[in-house]
Amino acid sequence: MENLVKLKAAIKGKKILVFGPPGCGKGNRSRDLEALGLVHVSSGIALRAKVRDDPDSELSKKAVDFMKRGELVTDDIVVPIIMEHLNRDECRKNGFVLDGFPRTKAQADVLFSQVGIDLVLYLDVPHKFLLYGIVEGNRRVCVDCATGYSDFDPPRKESVCDKCGGKLIRRTDDNIKTIENRLKLYEEQTKPFLQDIQTKANVEILLITVSDEEVIDDKYLKKLRGRVYWAQTDQGGKARMLNLEGMRMRLYNLLAEIFIAPAK
Ligand code: ADP
Repeated sequence: MENLVKLKAAIKGKKILVFGPPGCGKGNRSRDLEALGLVHVSSGIALRAKVRDDPDSELSKKAVDFMKRGELVTDDIVVPIIMEHLNRDECRKNGFVLDGFPRTKAQADVLFSQVGIDLVLYLDVPHKFLLYGIVEGNRRVCVDCATGYSDFDPPRKESVCDKCGGKLIRRTDDNIKTIENRLKLYEEQTKPFLQDIQTKANVEILLITVSDEEVIDDKYLKKLRGRVYWAQTDQGGKARMLNLEGMRMRLYNLLAEIFIAPAK
């Protein structure tokens, strides 16, 4: 993309929140933004790292328990971990893409009162597609960079990450029971405060969704102001969006429209 250099310069220092249900592609879109120079801060990755590095602490044991069941880890554990990341010099200097946080209203209140956000990227994917991708598509993620793949978007070499060569694994919480619980919590606790964020923080929302019919039917989406874009499903209406490279280019073009002022 010709404008890539311009886009990198325009996006430097920006604070972008990636919002959406489990399995909607938050991790991959975050990687795309990271490639533009933003620091990727993911609550799921940060929690898993904490547990891996310090498995015997009380905090890790508590966190693991919630994660195994697909429940939300309590705010007293998650909030300090994420705020510590966001306050690092690298985030202040380069900007960041925040993924998986906030998931409760209390988390959102801390984020918006202490840090603020410039743009929300809201990935709206119907549940049937999410389950299809994670379960039937056999989602696997890179242990090193967390890029996600499925049978619909397979890596070039089985079990090896295209981007960094890391090993691909199935997440232990990617089973149908846990995912259903995670989706339920998303609907009940997380999704409802997006509108609240928009009103209070007056932040722009860029919505990317997979099905235009769903958008038209969804009263919730109609209430959100902002720019709406939708990716297309294939003829069968399957979860197939664009491939990773296609989604990345689409996202960069949308960001260029927002952050690079059109030439007068
Ligand atoms: P997904 O988006 O697919 O559910 P994540 O890697 O973001 O996966 O999160 C994995 C688990 O970590 C969640 O099921 C939850 O237990 C915990 N978690 C992640 N982020 C948060 C958060 N902001 N608040 C509470 N729990 C969280």
